[in-house]
Amino acid sequence: MLRPMSEADIADLIRGASQPFWITGQSTRRTGPGVALETTGLSGVTLYEPAALTLVVRAGTPLVEVEALLASEGQRLAFEPPLHGTIGGMVAMNASGPRAVQVGTCRDFVIGARFVDGSGNVIKSGGRVMKNVTGYDLARMMCGAGGTLGVLTEVAFKVLPMPETQMTLRLKTPLQEAPALMSKALGTPWEVSGAAWLNGEVWLRIEGFADQVSYRSTHLAALFPGAHADPKADWSKVRASGLNRITTRPSQAAAVLASLPEGEVILDHGGATILTEHPALPVPESPAVQALKAGLKAKFDPENKLNRAA
Ligand SMILES: Cc1cc2nc3c(=O)[nH]c(=O)nc-3n(C[C@H](O)[C@H](O)[C@H](O)COP(=O)(O)OP(=O)(O)OC[C@H]3O[C@@H](n4cnc5c(N)ncnc54)[C@H](O)[C@@H]3O)c2cc1C
Repeated sequence: MLRPMSEADIADLIRGASQPFWITGQSTRRTGPGVALETTGLSGVTLYEPAALTLVVRAGTPLVEVEALLASEGQRLAFEPPLHGTIGGMVAMNASGPRAVQVGTCRDFVIGARFVDGSGNVIKSGGRVMKNVTGYDLARMMCGAGGTLGVLTEVAFKVLPMPETQMTLRLKTPLQEAPALMSKALGTPWEVSGAAWLNGEVWLRIEGFADQVSYRSTHLAALFPGAHADPKADWSKVRASGLNRITTRPSQAAAVLASLPEGEVILDHGGATILTEHPALPVPESPAVQALKAGLKAKFDPENKLNRAA
């Protein structure tokens, strides 16, 4: 295993290498062929300006440290990332939790990034404000690329204030009926910030200032007779279930669920994400998407040195 301590070291390693690498953060989830190139040597916050809602952090920094720092200023990463792992692993997987139904995914909050591509070039994209993107947005290209195009070394985020309070409505619902019920809730004007099904119940979350939360949750509850309000519902089980993810359309979730063997299931994102102990099914890609991915790989990693398919 290699554990470089700087971006320059990573660039030197890649430039001089004849063998492929597998990039790892805290190795929570995925490993693959190649020499492990661990990023935890690149750790620490480079810049945090709470008043500007801006955070710049090295890619190997543990997520728990970042969350603790933001919480000390009453702020957070709005997309509800995993509770463990590194910043680089989170961005590489575009890992985003329940609140993505309201605010978007990790990609929507990345405003800049530095990375080393498969030829050992250091690439900088974006910056520290939201409006500065011209040309290709390479920082967002890296979100969800799974380490196939480069080793992230530093990422800049827009962060958001924590809400004053939250309320979760809980309603006993059979699994097969949950996607339709959650879609109905997400279609209301009451700004639902989480729509999940777990342990036989649909959970619908509302966040904001106390008066607003009370008003909005009362109106939402009126649409779902039998729902009870729980101000202390713990969403961490949805956020960090440790289960595999299947992405689908909520309207197709019931059919996908029917095709799965028995086992633990949690639904997130109104049924668009199925968390299951069974291996995720490969998502078919259109020829256009395949061509785009192959083109990016050829451009940023022409010698196929980074995160080869197993
Ligand atoms: C809400 C949520 C959503 C999630 N979504 C997914 C998902 O969609 N798919 C999935 O597989 N896992 C997903 N996970 C699991 C997720 O990968 C881990 O929880 C965590 O983010 C990984 O952190 P890590 O540092 O341990 O990364 P690792 O497990 O070490 O690596 C994860 C992936 O990121 C790459 N990587 C790591 N660091 C870098 C870097 N600096 N530059 C470039 N690439 C890097 C690795 O090569 C690997 O492909 C999710 C978890 C949660 C809780």
